[in-house]
Amino acid sequence: MADAAPSPLTQLSEEESLFQTSVRRFARERLAPHARAMDEAGVFRTELLAEMFELGLMGIEVPEEYGGQGGSFFQSILAIQELAAVDPSASVIVDVQNTLFNNAILRWGDDAQKRRWLPRAAKDTVTSYALSEAGSGSDAFALSTRAVEAGDSYRLTGRKLWITNAAEAGLFLLFATVNPELGYKGITAFLIERDMPGFRVGKKEDKLGIRASSTCELILDDCPVPKANVVGEVGKGYKIAIETLNEGRIGIGAQMLGLAQGALDHALEYSKQRKQFGKTISEFQGIQFELAEMAVDVEAARLMVYNAARLHDAGLPFLTEAAMCKFYASQVAERVASRAIEVLGGVGFTKDYPVEKLYRDAKIGRIYEGTSNMQRLTIAKQLLQERTGKT
Ligand SMILES: Cc1cc2nc3c(=O)[nH]c(=O)nc-3n(C[C@H](O)[C@H](O)[C@H](O)COP(=O)(O)OP(=O)(O)OC[C@H]3O[C@@H](n4cnc5c(N)ncnc54)[C@H](O)[C@@H]3O)c2cc1C
Repeated sequence: MADAAPSPLTQLSEEESLFQTSVRRFARERLAPHARAMDEAGVFRTELLAEMFELGLMGIEVPEEYGGQGGSFFQSILAIQELAAVDPSASVIVDVQNTLFNNAILRWGDDAQKRRWLPRAAKDTVTSYALSEAGSGSDAFALSTRAVEAGDSYRLTGRKLWITNAAEAGLFLLFATVNPELGYKGITAFLIERDMPGFRVGKKEDKLGIRASSTCELILDDCPVPKANVVGEVGKGYKIAIETLNEGRIGIGAQMLGLAQGALDHALEYSKQRKQFGKTISEFQGIQFELAEMAVDVEAARLMVYNAARLHDAGLPFLTEAAMCKFYASQVAERVASRAIEVLGGVGFTKDYPVEKLYRDAKIGRIYEGTSNMQRLTIAKQLLQERTGKT
């Protein structure tokens, strides 16, 4: 029998389609009315977080036996995209929870850790992923937070910076070194609970965009962490960080795709209402060409993001595609949001319409989970290895 023809990338299964519809409804009906106020206040509303847990958005891939939805990575991507079309802050909360924290525990946690942490993450506990420090951003493995062995525990001392979700989180996957002399081979992943002695969440950043998503410093001062909270092997934290971030990048691609789609939708809608010279502006070819080019950009980003996510779910290599889709979708988001402001004219430049916020929110896509230059490096390395036949 001949192989079944591969499905078009953008064709959704019935389950995917139903899931997409329910997230879209939540985003439009529940999130949209609060997005502007949350941006201005720099705070995400607690009841919306609770609704996101209730909808299953915080444990999409967590198996049902641990209280999750038992869904696919592609479904996480759909959720991140749909939320970002309305509020990229909500989107990154869900992104970190699913593609970084839950993903790491699912892949590297032992049975006891899965039973202990996953039901909480799926049900009611926001989580964070803490790798970056003041001195180690792109060069993440130069981190200096120290873990010193002491009987049944490690004592952690150091500071983390830029940690998404930290204001709300109860659980933190945090990377520290057990021996700086070992370089990246000393890096180890620890599970920290918010109320552990010697641990506290510090200053919250006041940001350009995704303002309702908290970004904070973490302070560890001789914080005792039981050995049972080491995730994966001691010294193998670098592998957990690399591999989770490879997947997380597709999530950021999806966030940027959703943002661009949201901006395009606003531009389309406005262009059909606004009249100048006795016509709606959508009747002018100059505006039609803008909209057409924006749509091409969004479609190209969609294909790249969906392809990377579907490669992941098929168990195929996706490293290059993940880096490419994040790199490209973050450019598209900035470009499309900028053009959407121009289609709206003066009102696009005000806070009365959502495109101004989307434009500010787009900028982060080129920075977190590896800057655009880091994606360029990954892509070039893969290309050069392929060309020289090295693996
Ligand atoms: C809103 C926000 C949320 C974040 N959330 C998290 C989080 O939840 N967890 C976490 O661990 N981190 C988080 N981060 C940190 C983020 O991942 C880092 O900011 C990012 O990796 C860049 O590091 P850096 O800021 O130190 O910039 P740097 O590494 O100092 O880079 C500065 C510039 O130099 C360039 N550069 C650096 N090295 C090279 C090189 N070798 N070749 C070419 N160019 C280079 C970069 O591309 C960039 O343009 C967050 C950051 C922000 C702003």
